[in-house]
Amino acid sequence: MIIRKRLVINLLMIAVLLAACSAPAAQGNPASTAIGTEQAINAAENSPAPEMDSASTPMNDVPLKDALGNLEPQDVFQNFYDITQVPRPSGSMDKIREFLVNFGNGLGLETIADDAGNVLIRKPAAPGFENRQGVVLQAHMDMVDEMDEGKDFDFDTDPIQAFVNGDYIVADGTTLGADDGIGVAMIMAVLQSDSLQTGPLEGLFTVDEETTMSGANGLKPDFLQGRIFFNLDSETEGIFTIGSAGGEHVNSNSTYPQTTAPTDMLAYAVKVQGLQGGHSGVNINQVLGHATRLLVRLLKGAEEPFGLRLSSLSGGTASNAIPRDATAVVFLPAEQADGFTAYVKDYEATIQVELTETEPDLNVQLEAVDPPAQVLEIEFQNTLIDALYGTPQGVERMSDAVPGLVETSTNLGITAIQDGQMQLVCYPRSSVDSELQDMEQVITSIWALAGYPAEITGWYAAWTPNPDSPILGLMQSTYLELFGVEPSVSAVHAGLECGAIGGIYPGMDMISIGPTLENVHSPSERLSIPSVDKLMQLLTTVLQHIPDK
Ligand SMILES: [Zn+2]
Repeated sequence: MIIRKRLVINLLMIAVLLAACSAPAAQGNPASTAIGTEQAINAAENSPAPEMDSASTPMNDVPLKDALGNLEPQDVFQNFYDITQVPRPSGSMDKIREFLVNFGNGLGLETIADDAGNVLIRKPAAPGFENRQGVVLQAHMDMVDEMDEGKDFDFDTDPIQAFVNGDYIVADGTTLGADDGIGVAMIMAVLQSDSLQTGPLEGLFTVDEETTMSGANGLKPDFLQGRIFFNLDSETEGIFTIGSAGGEHVNSNSTYPQTTAPTDMLAYAVKVQGLQGGHSGVNINQVLGHATRLLVRLLKGAEEPFGLRLSSLSGGTASNAIPRDATAVVFLPAEQADGFTAYVKDYEATIQVELTETEPDLNVQLEAVDPPAQVLEIEFQNTLIDALYGTPQGVERMSDAVPGLVETSTNLGITAIQDGQMQLVCYPRSSVDSELQDMEQVITSIWALAGYPAEITGWYAAWTPNPDSPILGLMQSTYLELFGVEPSVSAVHAGLECGAIGGIYPGMDMISIGPTLENVHSPSERLSIPSVDKLMQLLTTVLQHIPDK
């Protein structure tokens, strides 16, 4: 039961992470409906046959352009269609920036592109609403550029081919870019509206969220005027996100001493493999196996009894991924070969029992290999195994404020020890900045005992959940009034732009919302059409009820 509960929470976290974008609508759209399958088919019949390779696109899919008349809110979906026509993979922001600058100028609104490449559009208060608190609406303008194998597509020049499929908008073999194009489209609709009765609004469009977060990180402290902040990059309608983790890389890079490999010993490769892996933030609460740690534990138990010598050790390929496999090349005296083989079998059985629920495919392989020329100098080897075995791994603390949320964790993402070069990368995360610093010191203290240098890179701030946030309270009561159900409140154990922006604007009252997106960052990405309408109703209602200063 405990496992089931954990799984549910984890799925929630993934859903939240996947869906982080929403935006305000221009009008109330009280009676709008999403296009249904029937309408979609009708639209298909009424429009000219689309020019496309029908092999890869189901015939009942209607090009988004031809379905726009049937989609509500129309202004949002028109904006979204327009955005799909502007190439904007992360790192190629010029075209979308120009598009947004032209959009703001076209509305006669103050429009600024900052040094980081972000675009800000300011909309003054409606007459009589000048005393309202200012609100910032933010979405990121870049998109992930994934496509199906064999798809002929250039993200730098080709428009996204979007289609309506039942209650969803989908792309044809590429990411759709609703993450976060739909957030941009909703903000545009709010800025366009001349019927909304709101205080001063700012639409902030950031660059390169999906890669470096350089837009959010590069904001100047005096750029934004509003102190209520809506991030429209969440991925599940009905879930409000109120916190995210900060993080950093703790790196150690150095050389190490080697000696000539013994000629009277046999060389083997030991592999721990078949693990699930996963995102080191989102999946860390699943108590999955960590391949490198499991392998180091094996080595720790074999060093003395078998006189094992280590030649190389590697595990994991990315700081933010839980290692799925790890390999060590070791030397053993010939007379110990049988004993070591039995030890490895026993060890495999032990950890298979320990991880039977979470890692059903876990296995340990032992095979003879050609002997490498060098091994680690013995004292360095002993210290290394102790240092890696003692390096913390996994969940350190759960949140008191948000049930089910991992507050602090760490992941030894990369271990590479070979040919005299050592690289270690840990990725601690926490939704409390001081705990992140604590985690960093634990890791660097252990490494200091071993004599390893440590360097911190890529730090970003936590967005600490505030269950008493006034904007959260307003959003919750409005949601209940509009839809008759309580929304969920969650936080993610991963980095969001809100963390970076909150670090630059302390005291900003922030919330992240969005319509429902599925399978983001993949060619299966799809956007729920009805959820956009609900989100716009919520957003436009809340924006018209922001309290006075
Ligand atoms: Zn996003």
